[in-house]
Amino acid sequence: MSADCIFCRIITGDVPSDLVYTDEEMVAFRDINPVASTHILVVPREHIESVPHLQPGHEGLVGRMVMRARALAEDEDLASRGYRLVVNSGPEGGQMVPHLHLHLIGGRRLKDQMG
Ligand code: AMP
Repeated sequence: MSADCIFCRIITGDVPSDLVYTDEEMVAFRDINPVASTHILVVPREHIESVPHLQPGHEGLVGRMVMRARALAEDEDLASRGYRLVVNSGPEGGQMVPHLHLHLIGGRRLKDQMG
């Protein structure tokens, strides 16, 4: 928990969000500025800043975040249409919120955005 972190404040309920999933180790909520009709963020409850801050022992958490994004994509009827999972990491990776999160984006044909 980091008091000045917007995602930590969403997790504690101090900041409202459109939650779509919650369990003991992660939450998922709709992005406030969606880039497609489905844009959900899968966020660990633990305040892990970014990919380089992952520690040995986080492998299972990261795997379960991906599997949760897959399940949410199925809930959103995106499984056969396709979708994108994105993790931005650090300033040059385009990360704006320094709390690890996985973007699930879908509902339209996405452009090639490999930089
Ligand atoms: P990133 O650039 O990967 O760090 O993405 C951060 C994402 O968080 C952006 O897509 C923002 O629109 C989203 N975001 C920021 N604040 C909130 C909030 N209060 N509720 C939901 N999404 C948010």
